Amino acid sequence: MLALGEREIRGSFVNCSKGEASRIKMPPGFSDGSVPWDDLDFLGWTDPGAPMRALLVVPDEGGPTGIVLRRPEAMRASAMRSSMCRVCLTDHAASGVSLFVAPLAGAAGRNGNSVGEYLCSDLACSLYLRGKRQPRMRLVRREETLTLAERVDRAMSNLAAFTSRVVAG
Ligand SMILES: [Zn+2]
Repeated sequence: MLALGEREIRGSFVNCSKGEASRIKMPPGFSDGSVPWDDLDFLGWTDPGAPMRALLVVPDEGGPTGIVLRRPEAMRASAMRSSMCRVCLTDHAASGVSLFVAPLAGAAGRNGNSVGEYLCSDLACSLYLRGKRQPRMRLVRREETLTLAERVDRAMSNLAAFTSRVVAG
């Protein structure tokens, strides 16, 4: 993806107030220019100032869409664990995947409605797809016959399905 600026990122969030968007801390490496934009299909990070908050910024032709996510740490882990990211389909040991919950955009979200998805806990799907990061203690290695471009396309359409549910409110 192309590098984004801070204003563009803050302005992209669809499911939080302007005040909350203004308090989000940029990703680690953002200020010193070490975000590996060339290897990213979307930007995903945990807010360094609020570990229960995670952020996704997904580029699109009409501009990026930002989604605020919460990590529901208190969920009963054994029942809620999945070992596969539903976006990039990377297999992880259970702790490598987390259920993230996004408030819906607009009034629906303000009334407490949300949607959840299992994603790589570090939101680094792009790096797993490219083999730049390896799951820890991977139990299963599925053989993929798709090319990288095809797997990226599949991940981005999975992600778009999630973000469009949030945006629809
Ligand atoms: Zn993933």
